[in-house]
Amino acid sequence: MKPWRLIAPDLVLSSPITAIAPQLMEKYGLRGLILDVDNTLIGDDESDVSEDIRKWVELMSQRYPIWLASNNFSDRRIQKVAESLNLPYRSRAGKPSRRVVRQVLEAMKLPPEQVAMVGDRLFTDTIVGNRLGLFTILVQPPSEEIVFKPTLATIFKARSSFLRNWEIWIARKSGVKI
Ligand SMILES: [Mg+2]
Repeated sequence: MKPWRLIAPDLVLSSPITAIAPQLMEKYGLRGLILDVDNTLIGDDESDVSEDIRKWVELMSQRYPIWLASNNFSDRRIQKVAESLNLPYRSRAGKPSRRVVRQVLEAMKLPPEQVAMVGDRLFTDTIVGNRLGLFTILVQPPSEEIVFKPTLATIFKARSSFLRNWEIWIARKSGVKI
């Protein structure tokens, strides 16, 4: 495997996570979801989940098992989000380390290729998903203006998504199609 393959998502969405519909799940043979939390389900400066996200989780969790796996060290924050959505969760997941996400996958009892790891960051969410053989989906943060092909200028302009844009810029320079 070429090293840059680890930072190449299987699917790149230029929209927030709510674009993942049952139709898309079917198209890629997906039966479960592991979701990042900060800047995937909720802005990292927000404390409550939006109505859009709540409705999306309600719809999707009727059909598919959904787990949250967050690198956030604040267990209280992630627990609050998880409880408000009625989803099981792990905080302090240490992505791109495999340990916690592998435990989540084992709890789901699904083959890795049928589970999507969904997140906003290449160097944590995409890498851990690819390392475990999951289907990896990069999404747009819920509250960001769309800067999907960041240039060096936009990387430095959009401070809140600096790391994310920087990672995408590196990936594109490495030949990843984003
Ligand atoms: Mg995130």
